[in-house]
Amino acid sequence: MFEEYKFTEHSAADINRMIPKRCRLQGSRCKNCGALFVTKRLICPDCKTGTEFEPVEISGRGKVHTCTAVRIPLLPVLKRGSYAVGVVELEEGARAEGQIVDVELDDVKIGMEVESTVRKAREEYPGKVIYMYRFKPVKKR
Ligand SMILES: [Zn+2]
Repeated sequence: MFEEYKFTEHSAADINRMIPKRCRLQGSRCKNCGALFVTKRLICPDCKTGTEFEPVEISGRGKVHTCTAVRIPLLPVLKRGSYAVGVVELEEGARAEGQIVDVELDDVKIGMEVESTVRKAREEYPGKVIYMYRFKPVKKR
């Protein structure tokens, strides 16, 4: 599934972006009822009997279903300022939670078109950088 990565002079961010599926949204569809989820499940919460899931490509595009501003970080150690989080209704029908970036807090609106992106989440210690998917507004042309 993953391509073998050979050491190069790329940054950690480049490496994460080059490895397929890493830090990207991956869907899984219940083989019993067809319900689609972004996070992995052991048992399908829709049909309550499905235990087998198939991987589904997720575009990462969708609309903000609901959102809020976090003005006091959950973990002070993260030393992060205010940020927006939301639930995004993806084009494929599944919903995903995530931070919404590249937009002022007061400009995040329900129904806003967004797409997934990869951002540095934190550095646990020098050399170990954690990346996660985020959502950013779709730029209109
Ligand atoms: Zn199911």
